[in-house]
Amino acid sequence: MSEETAYSADDPRLGLLLEGIVRLAAGDLETRIEVSAARDEIDAVIMGTNLLAEDLQIIYEELEQRVEARTQQLNDARLAMQHMAMTDPLTGLSNRSAFSAALAEAQAAGLETSTKPAILLLDMDGFKAINDSLGHTIGDKVLETVARRISGAVREQDMVARMGGDEFAVLLPDVSPAMAASVGNRILAALDGLIEIEGHHLRCGASMGLRMADPGVSADDLMMEVDIAMYESKADGRGKLKAFEPSMLHVRQMRNQLVAELKEAIAGSQLVLYYQPIIRLDTREIEGVEALVRWNHPTRGIVMPDEFIPIAEETGMISQLGGWVLRAAVEQLKLWRSDPLTSSHNFSMRINVSAPDLQRLEFVEEVREALSASGLDPAALVLELTESAVIQGNALDRYTLSSLQRLGVGLEIDDFGTGYSSISYLRQLPVDAVKVDRTLLAALGSDPSQPALLAAVLQLIRACGLNAVWEGIETEEQADYLLSIGCTSGQGYYFSRPLPEAEMTEQLKLHKSWPIES
Ligand code: C2E
Ligand code: CA
Ligand code: CA
Repeated sequence: MSEETAYSADDPRLGLLLEGIVRLAAGDLETRIEVSAARDEIDAVIMGTNLLAEDLQIIYEELEQRVEARTQQLNDARLAMQHMAMTDPLTGLSNRSAFSAALAEAQAAGLETSTKPAILLLDMDGFKAINDSLGHTIGDKVLETVARRISGAVREQDMVARMGGDEFAVLLPDVSPAMAASVGNRILAALDGLIEIEGHHLRCGASMGLRMADPGVSADDLMMEVDIAMYESKADGRGKLKAFEPSMLHVRQMRNQLVAELKEAIAGSQLVLYYQPIIRLDTREIEGVEALVRWNHPTRGIVMPDEFIPIAEETGMISQLGGWVLRAAVEQLKLWRSDPLTSSHNFSMRINVSAPDLQRLEFVEEVREALSASGLDPAALVLELTESAVIQGNALDRYTLSSLQRLGVGLEIDDFGTGYSSISYLRQLPVDAVKVDRTLLAALGSDPSQPALLAAVLQLIRACGLNAVWEGIETEEQADYLLSIGCTSGQGYYFSRPLPEAEMTEQLKLHKSWPIES
């Protein structure tokens, strides 16, 4: 031991020092060890230890603050993500998942308090046409406006959600059926007004279904049933509210069955074509036949197109159906033209083309192939397009139309006068003729102002450089009147009803002019 050593092994400060280090090591960073008056080497170690403790404490506190800040950030991010997962980014409304969660919650709450939530489901009418013709930017603005109007028409406690596309839903947590219906009608009224966007004045109403969330019905079933009610409202002329009724399930079931059967019919050659002549009004010779499809149903017999064409269009089956009609009609015309007994007539084949077909790029190719397979001149085929199909007028339609025109097939607007197309709009389309809807002729005779109207319509069509075909001619007087005002072509029961192929062939063999005298 050197002589400067001022402490011994049993110096009590060593014990204190040891204790202090143990406390520090255990995490008690506030521990400080008392320095003695001796200020010797032991005190130097004690002071050093205290300083270290001080540093440790500062570092530790900083670390704690940083961890706290990070935790807060993580929490915020999680909340933001949760919000995003529950929110529709375009409208800021709740989305489908948020709606499902809220519905489950309202149902659970309803069980305890014996209150009933209600669901309103809305699908915009005519939104697709706006989107297609004016573009997605304007379409998005329409949806934002619609979202605001719905939100403005409901109460604080009601939840408005965008379910996707142009479909919205409202959850009313506790209402009577009458109250729910009145909220629904208030929303429909709010949507009725014009929407002004970038100089366009648009109207975009909605069809609405209502379903009370009865206890014991699963959320999935409720959503399926409110969808059925909404669908019924659409089928019933749009812009209305329909409450779900169990009988609607039956209607849906029938429709599903029809869809399944139609699929089979298209694949299994249950479709047949009937043919109706189009007549030159001056010579009464045949200048065309319109192919009209029928479904020869195994148990129901002949089913008319109005019953299944809309369903084929909605389910996408129309492209196969339309393809079959195209090939069968062209093939039939080739047969008539090559048979010496029928080939003396010179007429074209008219087929009806659905709106969805104009949206398919392959359609032009199908027409080209059908023609080249038959070896017929393209002008032998005339495509009848409904006004509503071409009025959508988006880029794809226009592309298809001009491609078809280049191909050399005739293009005709069908059902003219039922839609809202202006004649000046028609002039911009690459079409050759319009077929005037039979409702215009139907009023002839009963309404004294009608003859003047018919003459004016004819003049307008002519002024656009288009030909006119008049459909729905049922009497000789009508045929004569139309001829007297200068109409050249007509079609209708007066000349002939649509006939099955064998009968049409028979008439072509026997007659040069229509109607057939019997
Ligand atoms: P549309 O193109 O306007 O066809 C004319 C409809 O009027 C036919 O009914 C025809 O039978 C009927 N008609 C003809 N003359 C007269 C008449 O003098 N008086 C009256 N009251 N009616 C007459 P149909 O065959 O039931 O066809 C109904 C609609 O189904 C057609 O209307 C057409 O839009 C559609 N359609 C028919 N075949 C096809 C097809 O192959 N493809 C597509 N996409 N649609 C088709
Ligand atoms: Ca037609
Ligand atoms: Ca028509």
